[in-house]
Amino acid sequence: LNYRKAKFLTSAPKLKLCPPDNGREVAFAGRSNAGKSSALNTLTGSKIARTSKTPGRTQLMNYFNIEDNIHLVDLPGYGYAKVPEAMKIEWQKHLNDYLNNRGSLVGLVLLVDIRHPLKEFDRMMVQWSINSEMPLHILLTKSDKLKSGVAKQALNNLRNELSDYPQISMQLFSALKKTGVDQLAQRLDTWLLV
Ligand code: GDP
Repeated sequence: LNYRKAKFLTSAPKLKLCPPDNGREVAFAGRSNAGKSSALNTLTGSKIARTSKTPGRTQLMNYFNIEDNIHLVDLPGYGYAKVPEAMKIEWQKHLNDYLNNRGSLVGLVLLVDIRHPLKEFDRMMVQWSINSEMPLHILLTKSDKLKSGVAKQALNNLRNELSDYPQISMQLFSALKKTGVDQLAQRLDTWLLV
C-alpha cells in the first residue's frame, strides 16, 4: 500500500462515532511523547498527525484513509499531563471498548521510546494483545538517540522478553533518520492487504 496517499478522514471520540465497521484498520497507540505523531508523519510523508497537541484534540481517535475502507487510526496519546484525571479515565473506557469491539481492527502498532523500558500502559497493551490474540507490532522509537549496538541490544532484550508470543513483533524506528519506515510499511501491508 502507498501510505503516502493517507488523507485525514474524521475524528471520533469513541467507538460508536467511528466510521462504519466494515473495512480494515491498524491503530497506533503509545504514551504521549513516545514519537507517535513523528512516526505517522514519517510513514505518510506529510504532517497529517499534527505534532502540536491541544488537550481537546488529544482525546480523539483520528482516522486516515489509505484506500477505500483501509484506515490508519491515531489513538490519543496516553498520559498527556494536561488532561484532567476524569477525562483520562473516560478515555480508558473508550479505548477498551474500541479494542474489544472494533471488528475492522486487524493490528496494533505500539510506540515505545527506546530509552524507556515498557511502562504500565505499554504492558497493558501487550497483555491485551496476548489475551485477544491481536497482532501487535512494537516500534522502539527515537533509536537514533542510542548508539547502534545499544539500540540493537534493546531490541534483542525485548524480543527475548516476548518470545513466547509469535503475534508480537518489534523493530527499531527513527523519524529523525527515517530508519525502519519500509519495515513498518511491510508489517502494515501484511495486516491490511487481504
Ligand atoms: P507523540 O506525543 O507520541 O506524538 O510524540 P511526538 O512525535 O510529538 O515526539 C515527541 C518528541 O520526541 C518531539 O520533541 C520529537 O521531536 C521527538 N522525536 C520524535 N521522534 C524522534 C526521533 O526519531 N528521533 C529523535 N531524536 N527525536 C524524536
